[in-house]
Amino acid sequence: MKILLKNFLIFLIIFLILAGVLSLLGSSGAKTEQISVSQLVTEVSTGQVKTIALTGNRLDVVLNNGQRQLAYKGDGDFIALLKNYGVDQNKLNSFEFQVKNSSGQSIWATTILPIGIPLIFIIGFFVFLQRQMRGAGNQAFKFGESQAREIGPLDKKTKITFKDVAGVSEAKSELGEIIEFLKNPRKFINLGAKIPKGVLLVGGPGTGKTLLARAVAGEANVPFFHISGSEFVEMFVGVGASRVRDLFRRAKKNLPCIIFIDEIDAVGRQRGAGLGGSHDEREQTLNQILVELDGFEPNIGLVVMAATNRPDILDPALLRPGRFDRKVILDMPSIKDREEILKIHSQNKPLASTVNLKKVAERTPGFSGADLSNLMNEAAILTARRNKNKIGQLEILESIEKVLLGPERRSRVFSEKEREISAYHEAGHALVAHELPGCDKVQKVSIISRGQAGGYTLITPEEDKYLKNKNEFLDNVAGLLGGFVAEEETFKQTTTGSSSDLKKATDLIKRMVTQFGMSDLLGPRTFGEKEELIFLGREISEQRDYSEKTAQLIDEEVSKLITLCYNKAKEIVKNKKAYLEKIAKLLLEKETLEKNEFEKIFTTP
Ligand code: ADP
Ligand code: MG
Ligand code: ZN
Repeated sequence: MKILLKNFLIFLIIFLILAGVLSLLGSSGAKTEQISVSQLVTEVSTGQVKTIALTGNRLDVVLNNGQRQLAYKGDGDFIALLKNYGVDQNKLNSFEFQVKNSSGQSIWATTILPIGIPLIFIIGFFVFLQRQMRGAGNQAFKFGESQAREIGPLDKKTKITFKDVAGVSEAKSELGEIIEFLKNPRKFINLGAKIPKGVLLVGGPGTGKTLLARAVAGEANVPFFHISGSEFVEMFVGVGASRVRDLFRRAKKNLPCIIFIDEIDAVGRQRGAGLGGSHDEREQTLNQILVELDGFEPNIGLVVMAATNRPDILDPALLRPGRFDRKVILDMPSIKDREEILKIHSQNKPLASTVNLKKVAERTPGFSGADLSNLMNEAAILTARRNKNKIGQLEILESIEKVLLGPERRSRVFSEKEREISAYHEAGHALVAHELPGCDKVQKVSIISRGQAGGYTLITPEEDKYLKNKNEFLDNVAGLLGGFVAEEETFKQTTTGSSSDLKKATDLIKRMVTQFGMSDLLGPRTFGEKEELIFLGREISEQRDYSEKTAQLIDEEVSKLITLCYNKAKEIVKNKKAYLEKIAKLLLEKETLEKNEFEKIFTTP
């Protein structure tokens, strides 16, 4: 409304200025005096007239003294009129007489323009106003339309194919038949084969679900309608459902094609369990998706893909045969996949010859595709900040910690004493991890503060591991307690710096006992049932399915195992105190130790 008012004011001002200019123009011959025909006759007979120009009935008179006059004659010939008034023949010849075409441009200038231009403006203004109103109305009508973005098959710039997706080979081969079908539906129809209507991509955040869906469209060369589950949901009940209808209608006009509903858990949560306002709306939207999924024949060339990282909370109706019955799982990338992903994301970045992406992949277990892409970006930024023109291995490795722990916080000032405590603490972690066979390799030790951490010890496996045994767990916990033990051993007291280590250690041990059946005392069973509170989408309560007595046993067992790990760490730190000193001294001097520098400590006497 405000915009409308503003536009109106602008229009009014333009209009007023124009009207003013025009009226000025019209009166620019302001010196022209209007006279009667008889006065003109008098002037002619007295020989004052220089020229007379006739346009229609209008007579423009210029006198000998340069004055301009204007007169209007009735119908009939002007010269004859003068004669009738009895003007002398030689007086008639004494002035120049011009006849102008009355339908010429002058009528434009004299009558049409002054009236026409304002008229055009007024009409223009009303048209404009109306369009504004209709625009506003349109938006209200568009509310129920889907906001899906369409990516056409000819969109070369945004085209993504399987080449751009590293790893996830099983997912790719599963999606292969869908691509084949979209490319050549006849082949399948002739054989009476039914292609799945719905495919659900399942994988953790950043594993490339969205990317893969787009790659499928790119490979099959079909239009791709991309919408996020949350875009269906608005304040008003019914909007989501109408958007779903509209989306399917649009897609059906563009067959064959793919509809991709990203983050479907936003609308696809289990029904009937929600609290709070948006839940009715969500249910209606979900119902509409189900209706649409059932509403088209399997082989018309429409494939609906959806992605989620929470398949467990989806409504079972969505996963029923005939709907999203095909599940494609995207795993976290393995070490080889990580190398491939790094290669893809360094394609348009200049890398120094020293860069070894395999080493980078080794150091980044648990990184998703998105993390790796972020890592290469951070490395490029770091390189630019250092005014180098090629990304080096060092920049990439440094960026790992940035992605993992947050940016360096060099501005945080530590006292000498605090630095010393930090050095011994990290040295403790590193030493215990180095000595215990169940721990992974120490990649880096540092006392540079990053994010929340005062310092850090990077311990990662050489290769991906999917299974862990009890000994490895216990050794890991001992490693976590290494910092605490080293502080205690060196300074005879501990600091708050160990609190997150202790929490991690306790959680690990608890899970060993209650979920992995790794306690001899409690045996191979699980304890406690996590209850999902759907409207929050988070587990917030844990239900006890065991007795008070068992709870006490669990407590005791956890304490017992932690003590065991503590003693293990203590023994190492006590026996190898010389090494602890060495590591800590070197850390205080250099702040950061790389893997080879760290290992050298143990090989040189
Ligand atoms: P998700 O949808 O699973 O959360 P995305 O598909 O949005 O993850 O991935 C985010 C980004 O991470 C992608 O744009 C891409 O740059 C990168 N990425 C993820 N997985 C891969 C992969 N397998 N190969 C290459 N790049 C990947
Ligand atoms: Mg995504
Ligand atoms: Zn620590």
